[in-house]
Amino acid sequence: MPLSVLILGSGSALPTLNSNQSAQLVETESELYLIDCGEGTQIELRRRKVRIQRINHIFISHLHGDHFFGLVGLMSTLHLLGRTKDLHIHAPKGLEEIIRIQFRDAGSHLSYQTFFHEMNGSNQLIHEDKNVQVRSLPLKHRIPTFGFLFKEQQKDRKLDPEALKEYKVPNFARKAISKGEDYTNEEGKVIANEKLSFPLEAPVQYAYCSDTAYSEELLQLLPEVELLYHESTFLEKDRERASKTYHSTAKDAARIANLSGAKKLLLGHFSNRYKSRESFLKEARPIFPDSYIAEEGERYIVGA
Ligand SMILES: [Zn+2]
Repeated sequence: MPLSVLILGSGSALPTLNSNQSAQLVETESELYLIDCGEGTQIELRRRKVRIQRINHIFISHLHGDHFFGLVGLMSTLHLLGRTKDLHIHAPKGLEEIIRIQFRDAGSHLSYQTFFHEMNGSNQLIHEDKNVQVRSLPLKHRIPTFGFLFKEQQKDRKLDPEALKEYKVPNFARKAISKGEDYTNEEGKVIANEKLSFPLEAPVQYAYCSDTAYSEELLQLLPEVELLYHESTFLEKDRERASKTYHSTAKDAARIANLSGAKKLLLGHFSNRYKSRESFLKEARPIFPDSYIAEEGERYIVGA
């Protein structure tokens, strides 16, 4: 299964009947990772039939409510449904205290252990497992805020079944070939790995950047990702408001996508003041044609 991103919420500030606050689910073959957890996220996870107990890592970008007001509710639900697996939460300083007080004063003892991992700088390797590496990205907002860069781990080489048959490769030798080794047959003849396997596919990358003012500092750590989510809370006509609140316009997001060499841009974190989201595309596409609205309920394959 390729790396993909399910958009659970792409609105900002307050939840409305048409739009949820920030939340996304990064999916791999065996793990689910939640990014931000605005109010209502657990309902949206349910609506999208996500098996929530499979989430073991939650990444919170910053402590504005529209990015974490759903967390305590989700954690409570995980407990009520009998979770026993550990839960890891990666967030800036302060979240642990907020959450622990809520459960402490409710006299609740969760059925599982929670580990808070404090992020205090950008370009930190904040998580790694067999599927992905996750690094923190520098964002420019009113309070400490981090973006997330998900990089798929290098996969094994895919074997060429025709070639395996042709060179009579026994089963026990296949694992080593998938790791890149050559094969030596019974007569001592070496068959080059390239003859037995397909070329390696480069690992894909996904970057999540919300919330932030336009920031070229981000570009120093943002590689050429296959998929970039960059907030575009405002349109150019509200540029002054964007600057004051340390948010971006659709044009800013498109400039970052363009300068970073991203392949595709998803716009999100829209202010409720705008009736239509088409205007965001109108502003972004002249600068970066592969710009799209992060539609709630849509799943985007990274690299497709
Ligand atoms: Zn914010």
